[in-house]
Amino acid sequence: MKIYSSLEEWKAFRPSLPRSLGLVPTMGFLHEGHLSLVRRAREENEVVVVWIFVNPTQFGEGEDFGTYPRDMERDLALLREERTDYVLAPEVEGVYPPGFQTTVNVEALSSVLEGAHRSGHFQGVATVVAKMLCLTQPERAYFGQKDAQQSVVVRRMAADLGMLTEIVVCPTVREPDGLAMSSRNAYLDAEDRRASTVLYRALCAAQKAFAGGERRGPRLCAAMEEVLRAEPRAEVDYAAVVDPETFAGLDGIEGTAWAVIAVRIGKIRLIDNLLLNAE
Ligand code: AMP
Repeated sequence: MKIYSSLEEWKAFRPSLPRSLGLVPTMGFLHEGHLSLVRRAREENEVVVVWIFVNPTQFGEGEDFGTYPRDMERDLALLREERTDYVLAPEVEGVYPPGFQTTVNVEALSSVLEGAHRSGHFQGVATVVAKMLCLTQPERAYFGQKDAQQSVVVRRMAADLGMLTEIVVCPTVREPDGLAMSSRNAYLDAEDRRASTVLYRALCAAQKAFAGGERRGPRLCAAMEEVLRAEPRAEVDYAAVVDPETFAGLDGIEGTAWAVIAVRIGKIRLIDNLLLNAE
């Protein structure tokens, strides 16, 4: 496994690699969710590249950029076990050198839900992902369903800009009690960790109502809110039922929909989602 911190060196090297390259973008502090993407990339591509970069432009003021968990040595050991070929681990100045001034904005999708609660977040995400895709020219890039809106933003961007990369979205990996794995879970103390299962429990309440025939968006939201209200440590940013393409809230559901939740527990903000289906 070779590690590149210089994007200039990587750029000179990339043309010698085959087209069949799978990219897994991450912010590091890897867990089984990330590794599931690496394994899928390993199955489907000749070459696997993992990007590790805590991207400052997708954090808002007062968010946790400074304290975001980092452990490069551990991450590299895990990636070696997964037979990763290359790791790109640039410095902030390597990604955003002096004079950098280009941004990518996926307009409407970036203005709702996560976008509305985290101003500038998706512009930061879209810009850095666009840069990664340019630098690595992957045949496939792997993202997690855990960040559902992000995956739709990236898909839209790739389609709108005519990118050749296939965007592959992989299922959310959960802890045995349902909590979606996330680097930020490391910061939950014992009480908050116990409370954090409320997201999945609320999503399951919506799924259960949906499976029982409920198709009214507000009723499904009410089912989630009832569970969330019962957990005093949870401060809700949103609990919504949305169109899978536009992320607009739905009054009535005809096909499929996503139930999406963002909650603050103590200082930690957690998001999760579940596809509503009839089973
Ligand atoms: P992050 O390091 O949090 O930016 O995540 C990097 C990638 O891993 C993103 O595409 C995430 O959606 C994905 N990811 C994070 N957590 C999970 C999880 N629990 N299951 C599956 N994918 C995940």
